Amino acid sequence: MEKRQQIYEGKAKKVYATDDENFVIVSYKDDATALDGLKKGTIAGKGAINNRMTNFLMRLLEKNGVPTHFVEELNDRETVVKKVSIVPLEVIIRNVSAGSFAKRFGVEEGIVFDSPTIEFSYKNDELHDPLMNSYHAIALKVATREEIEYIKSLAFKVNEVLKEYFLSLGVKLIDFKLEFGKLADGTIVLADEISPDTCRFWDAETNEKLDKDRFRRDMGGVEDAYKEMMHRVFG
Ligand code: UDP
Repeated sequence: MEKRQQIYEGKAKKVYATDDENFVIVSYKDDATALDGLKKGTIAGKGAINNRMTNFLMRLLEKNGVPTHFVEELNDRETVVKKVSIVPLEVIIRNVSAGSFAKRFGVEEGIVFDSPTIEFSYKNDELHDPLMNSYHAIALKVATREEIEYIKSLAFKVNEVLKEYFLSLGVKLIDFKLEFGKLADGTIVLADEISPDTCRFWDAETNEKLDKDRFRRDMGGVEDAYKEMMHRVFG
């Protein structure tokens, strides 16, 4: 597959066209943003770690019946994926209270839920990704009722697979964000990334944070946390 012109540059990735209209190449950057874009920085080695970890997890999910956009890893930073139009919803699953959930409801972090929660944010930078429930999404034609139900079932399935997998590495999956995309024929697949940028990971023994919260909260040890997650996954 031949890499052609850049078609998009986001906060953490660039996307390139290829010689086949059904595929694009994503290229992961070391750039990091947080706090609604206010905080900017770089995390050395992050691009390669997020690329490799995402691809490993996408393959694991495919094996467990979750359709994804993954096609082929090209090198440390670049991967061929199916071209999708992203459903403009950030789908957030939580197993344990943290982050904006803890803040919104005035509770401490670390409360283990009896069953996972799901919420949607409308992907819109100007509006700062407002919370959106399924009725809002249907009213605004962001997705149909059937698509929302399907996305919800896939998201909970992803949670079951990933929760069990990470626990086997001594890591608690606290919460994470997913994005879904539509292929040309309307099929919905899991897209975007699954990495320490988009998941909260706590060490199962010590509750040490092994994710982007170390960057968001200026805790130090950011690169080491990403490297530690890389070692847990790839040995
Ligand atoms: N998340 C993300 N992108 C976003 C917002 C959240 O990947 O734009 C992830 C985040 O890493 C965490 C989960 O979604 O694993 C829940 O995030 P939360 O709503 O608590 O927001 P935050 O506290 O990160 O602002």
